[in-house]
Amino acid sequence: MKQLLYKSTRGEGGVVDAAAAILQGIAPDGGLYVPAAIPAAAWPLEELAQLTYQELACRILSLYFTCFSREEIKEAVNKAYDAKFAVPEIAPLVTHNNIHFLELFHGPTLAFKDMALSILPHLLKLAAEKLGTGKEIVILTATSGDTGKAALEGFAGVAGTRIIVFFPQHGVSEVQKRQMITQTGDNTHVIGIEGNFDDAQSGVKAMFTDESLRRRLDSHGYLFSSANSINIGRLVPQIVYYYWAYLQLVRKGAIAAGEAVNMVVPTGNFGNILAAWYARSMGLPLARLICASNSNNVLFDFFTTGVYNRRRPFYVTISPSMDILVSSNLERLLYHAAGENSQLVRSWMEDLAQKGVYTLPPEVQNRLNAFAAGYASEEETKEAIRSLYAASGYLVDPHTAVGVFVLEKYRQESGDSLPAVVAATASPYKFPGAVLSALDPQFAGQDDFALFGELAKVTGIPVPPAAAGLEKRPVVHTTVCRREEMQQVVEDILGLAGR
Ligand SMILES: *Cc1c(COP(=O)(O)O)cnc(C)c1O
Repeated sequence: MKQLLYKSTRGEGGVVDAAAAILQGIAPDGGLYVPAAIPAAAWPLEELAQLTYQELACRILSLYFTCFSREEIKEAVNKAYDAKFAVPEIAPLVTHNNIHFLELFHGPTLAFKDMALSILPHLLKLAAEKLGTGKEIVILTATSGDTGKAALEGFAGVAGTRIIVFFPQHGVSEVQKRQMITQTGDNTHVIGIEGNFDDAQSGVKAMFTDESLRRRLDSHGYLFSSANSINIGRLVPQIVYYYWAYLQLVRKGAIAAGEAVNMVVPTGNFGNILAAWYARSMGLPLARLICASNSNNVLFDFFTTGVYNRRRPFYVTISPSMDILVSSNLERLLYHAAGENSQLVRSWMEDLAQKGVYTLPPEVQNRLNAFAAGYASEEETKEAIRSLYAASGYLVDPHTAVGVFVLEKYRQESGDSLPAVVAATASPYKFPGAVLSALDPQFAGQDDFALFGELAKVTGIPVPPAAAGLEKRPVVHTTVCRREEMQQVVEDILGLAGR
């Protein structure tokens, strides 16, 4: 098969194969790796509709990761999408109130990040073997909640890897914190930071760019890598479930093969919806990609005006995984929309860094018309939870609710009545307080763990194993440090001598 190579959105440093792109995470020029050509999926949809999730994943991943053999990809897929997902369909599609929901939250941490982070460790391991580094991979991650736990679950027990997660000691939800500090697995390390997410993030970045640390790691047989959402090894596995959603609609007879559907994605860093755009570019009949934001509506403004402006207030919302003002993965879309003009991309990214704003020329903005955009305020998000539950008995988490609100508004305003799928990105069990208090204010301010039972009553769905008994699990990670001590903690964990 012809090799698919990857190049940077900022245009320097030549092309690399998938293994190098996965292992490096970010390109040396600061850009993101994109496929040199987006592969077409030439198989008939009727044929794909017969496949299992794992078989479909093998087909799609083989198109992108041509430097791995089919056997290698199959093994990675089968290790990732196994019984750690609560349902055999991995990502089931359910229909309520004339909306199809692609449930991406049946993995071990109850949010869609599991879909990519359960396979990334196996891809990284393959990449390291392919490149013959012979090193143990050390994943260093700062998290604001969801990514850290999903990465821990993904890497726990994977031979040849080790994972170190830093989280803001007082900046994550009670459920998220418990999920992390009770993580088992000899190769996992979880450290609380006396500080906020930015402190944790900047500490990690400093270690990544410290040359002398890198050399010492190297001499001890270690190699730093990242599980961040800009890694192409996280993006490509996300393409699979957009195909899967469409094919389930075909299989259920809700649409005929070839019929167009709209896709709604609750968006933060723009990774998830970008995967939908890749699926569309590969030939999947998706009409509009509807980008749904919360009060941090920088992407709504961007798609409606062509101006990206991050100089604005930052809101803490009940959909915290979408509280973001710089959507890193948008850079990939800009690169494709600009006709792969990396010079233009670089100038926009420089403007963003220096002035906090950039403006697309009209001809580039016009190439983004596959997208529609909307946003939901906090009140609108809660109202969407409430009214969907009242109409159908289906309870969604606040992130998914943002998608529901935006879809309904889009349908009203545009008159576009195509079948629509909303990516359901988290389980309501991840945000019990927010979800229940949207239904009934009496639940506001209560302990999240105490509300699991109530949620089971309301949804009729038993507490998922990933959440059940969480508050009673033994705490195994107790280290807390200051920002300045992060590197020391890492050196102690890895046993680097000569401080
Ligand atoms: C991370 C996350 C999102 C945002 O996804 P992006 O790929 O960053 O756009 C939405 N919902 C949930 C529950 C998440 O964890």
